Amino acid sequence: MKVLLGHDAIQARVLEMGRDIARDYASREPHLVGVLKGACTFMTDLSRAIDLSLTLDYIAVSSYGAATKSSGEVKLVKDLDQGLEGRDLLVVEDIVDTGLTLNYLLNVLRARGPRTLKVAALLSKPSRRLVEIPVDYVGFSIEDHFVVGYGLDYNEKYRNLRDIVVYGS
Ligand code: IMP
Repeated sequence: MKVLLGHDAIQARVLEMGRDIARDYASREPHLVGVLKGACTFMTDLSRAIDLSLTLDYIAVSSYGAATKSSGEVKLVKDLDQGLEGRDLLVVEDIVDTGLTLNYLLNVLRARGPRTLKVAALLSKPSRRLVEIPVDYVGFSIEDHFVVGYGLDYNEKYRNLRDIVVYGS
């Protein structure tokens, strides 16, 4: 499969993102919420690139399937362990495609009263967007390819690849 983003390029960009986030949150303590399972690898590397005191939590969502795809309604498969009231919440996503999943999730999380709410996504496919959502930190904007690796899957496989590759190419 064709390598779209190699391991070294990913690592270099994640370090830059970590530095940007550390600068923007200086003297705050960000609370990172990773969206399982895809964001796991990115979350691990990104959190280590942020030279600040911070906390981590995870949430897992699954889509309800084709019938509700256009609403982007998702089911919380695993909720957060910690509350969000007054915290500086940074949602960490693997990829923003149509934006429907993240849009729904942000509404759920915003209702829990964080002091601030921002989003970091490793990848974005802007040409696929159906809802406009603010993504504050984007690793790479990519064309409309289905990609796997570095946490991203196809049928739960390929998450362990070190590079991000175009599936089926
Ligand atoms: P959205 O609701 O359309 O933005 O979909 C977001 C979710 O779809 C992501 O969190 C991924 O789990 C999945 N997804 C979208 N594009 C890809 C891809 O190219 N490879 C792997 N998963 C993807």
